[in-house]
Amino acid sequence: MIGLELHAQLATRTKIFSGAPTAYGAEANRQASAIDLGMPGMLPVLNERAVRYAIRLGLALDAEVAGRSVFARKNYFYPDLPKGYQISQYELPVVGTGHLDIDLEDGSHKRVGVTRAHLEEDAGKSLHEGFTRMTGIDLNRAGTPLLEIVSEPELRTAKEAVAYMKKMHSLVRYLGICDGNMQEGSFRCDANVSVRPVGQTGFGTRAELKNLNSFRFVERAINYEIERQIELIEDGGAVVQETRLFDPDRGETRSMRGKEEAHDYRYFPDPDLLPLEITTAFIDEVRAELPELPDAKSMRFQQDYGLSGYDAGVLTASRELADYFEAVVAAAGDAKLSANWVMGELSGALNKASLDITQSPVDAATLAGLLARIRDETISGKIAKEVFEAVWNGEGDADTVISARGLRQVTDNSAIEAMVDEAIAANPEQLEQYRAGKTKLMGFFVGQVMKASGGKANPQQVNEVLKQRLDG
Ligand code: ADP
Ligand code: MG
Repeated sequence: MIGLELHAQLATRTKIFSGAPTAYGAEANRQASAIDLGMPGMLPVLNERAVRYAIRLGLALDAEVAGRSVFARKNYFYPDLPKGYQISQYELPVVGTGHLDIDLEDGSHKRVGVTRAHLEEDAGKSLHEGFTRMTGIDLNRAGTPLLEIVSEPELRTAKEAVAYMKKMHSLVRYLGICDGNMQEGSFRCDANVSVRPVGQTGFGTRAELKNLNSFRFVERAINYEIERQIELIEDGGAVVQETRLFDPDRGETRSMRGKEEAHDYRYFPDPDLLPLEITTAFIDEVRAELPELPDAKSMRFQQDYGLSGYDAGVLTASRELADYFEAVVAAAGDAKLSANWVMGELSGALNKASLDITQSPVDAATLAGLLARIRDETISGKIAKEVFEAVWNGEGDADTVISARGLRQVTDNSAIEAMVDEAIAANPEQLEQYRAGKTKLMGFFVGQVMKASGGKANPQQVNEVLKQRLDG
């Protein structure tokens, strides 16, 4: 049984309760105001944009947006939390129950319940590197707005958990509420895992795997933890409720601390903040700013472009990729061909170079230019791959590469006939076998002609002429 708590850092310019900037990478402690430090007498003021962003997610998850929610103090001591409490939401979160549909590898779908999503502030950071016998404290991150999105314990495998996390990651980026940068910690995951014997109802005791900041780590940590718990129980032991850390180098989880219960935190409503009241008019205003969401886009791609569910899912995984694809289709006019090239050659090259679509050296118009030359039969699909590589490497657009390298397809029928005749004359044995019924040799002759033409003969014409000559 797996339930995820995802923390999305909201892409506001300033903090959730102060005017200090949230930009990543500033010199330590330059972006922490007296409010973020919890100095006596300071009063927090709620960031309206953070609320808007939470509502966007609520609407996208088909969830209830609470007309009234309350900020609470979650009390605990940590060196990077000078106030001694974190402002969060507890009993009354801004977003209530909703759901997210995920696509699984076998092509099936699963609806995963979302328990709630609440607004809270992030804590600071303890710095251990570069200090001897000391720990540094950087409070730039203190007060950064977070949306904690809590799932029901309805995920059943590490793969499902990753599919859910990827979908949520894609969604927050579509919504423009989180930059999704996992290396900078803008999107991170705590995974709760428990096991139970087949047939048993009710839940086993869970362990919480804290701060997983990549999809791969989530998958590995969960799989390790499942094995660990099963072994423990089969050896007669018992899982204890605790917080564990994943060590990617060793590929294992380690106990970090006993897991607190909610009552340990002495939650109480923050007396410095009024309850958050959201009107329907405000919700409607936020609804109007929602972009087309991934599921709707995927449906539209299937309907308008005749793509399979799988292809549409791949192409709508990010808004940027979807936009790129649509720009290619608009210019090239052939959706299926465009989909094949964007998901095939282009994505392959991007992966190999560790680039994302926004960093592609081949822009949509240039790719469309190449596809146009396939469509008008200037080049074959095979030669197109060579042209693509050259375009990718900066040799110019498709037309430039085709003329510079002399790759124009041979469509002159008499030239093809001449090559065909030559190939037949040069291979009398194969000709005899072919005529004796070994028609598989057609492929051999096609290969000979294509080779003689340097891959440039139009394959369809080659086939036609060969048929005439061999069978006629
Ligand atoms: P906490 O503050 O204790 O982490 P939350 O309510 O924020 O509690 O999150 C609990 C998470 O743990 C949810 O995602 C929930 O689905 C998951 N969960 C609860 N019980 C179990 C269980 N027995 N096994 C696996 N996951 C669980
Ligand atoms: Mg929690």
